[in-house]
Amino acid sequence: MADKIQNRKKDVYELTHLNHLFIRNEITIPGFDGYQILKCDFHTHTVFSDGLVWPDGRIYEAWQDGLDAVAITDHIEHRINKEWLNGDLNESYKIASRAADDMDFIVIPGVEITRDKPLGHLNALFLQDANLLEKEDPMDSIAEARKQGAFIIWNHPGWPDHRVSLYPIHEQLLADNTIHGIEIMNYKDFYPQAIHWCASFKKAFIAATDIHCTTLSVYRNHLRPLTLVFAKEKSLAGIREALFAGRTVALFDGTLAGQENILSPLVKSCLKTKPMKNSCMAITNQSDLPFQITGADQHYLLPERKTVIIMLPPDNLLTFENCLIDTDLTLSIPVDELPFQ
Ligand code: ZN
Repeated sequence: MADKIQNRKKDVYELTHLNHLFIRNEITIPGFDGYQILKCDFHTHTVFSDGLVWPDGRIYEAWQDGLDAVAITDHIEHRINKEWLNGDLNESYKIASRAADDMDFIVIPGVEITRDKPLGHLNALFLQDANLLEKEDPMDSIAEARKQGAFIIWNHPGWPDHRVSLYPIHEQLLADNTIHGIEIMNYKDFYPQAIHWCASFKKAFIAATDIHCTTLSVYRNHLRPLTLVFAKEKSLAGIREALFAGRTVALFDGTLAGQENILSPLVKSCLKTKPMKNSCMAITNQSDLPFQITGADQHYLLPERKTVIIMLPPDNLLTFENCLIDTDLTLSIPVDELPFQ
């Protein structure tokens, strides 16, 4: 095989073709307005809470998966390995951060505030000192997170009872801008109702793995859930600024969800059109994002890095069925607003 580099004359020779450790899956998304599109996972666990992975393992797998940043968000209240690991709540971030230093990779310090419903679980990101969030009353933990300038995400609103409920506590925390983002996709679950909350409360759309084991063991050859962040610069500060500005799109299993003013330019940046004969048009997808398009009641599949020929819709409108801007609302773009080839 051409990809094998072997020298059988040596006493020992490497089976290099089996080693994927330093091979990264590149995710191509063109982007717009000069933003850096950073692929991020804001919800991961390590052995320092109830995960099965040492913190630097989180960094290597995320780098291999094509991500630019992860948040380490171990549970404050649920640390099953405490008997063997005496590190404090900042330790897993510190270990991950040292591993990331060599790799042009960003680690965000965080924790998961872990309580029963109605409050449920909240991630606090960009913390200065996670230990100060360990309080009996979760509202005191939230107050401390705010004091430290944290970005706060309402995690998996449909877990563990398979019901997605907006309790009064969430209405209050959303209204007073204590919660800044909501997970609409978590692990392997999708919460369509939460898209409406993101859209109506103007919160950041978040998709995250909440991974406890390895990502390979869950997602195999599929893209893990991730949040696309449209940042002015590739840095911790750049991600933080973009999150607070709400410039995110959630991506999982070929579905994209986000505010229309972000999702629309993102989709346009991925596509190029070319007029064809007989009222047809070719659309080329330059990205690694798939699209399902409807125009004049005709449905088309436009996979990653492919071209599809479609009929020009008489009403000049294309609907992107896998791009959601509200629970029951898909993104539509006039044909003449798509860039020409
Ligand atoms: Zn979690």
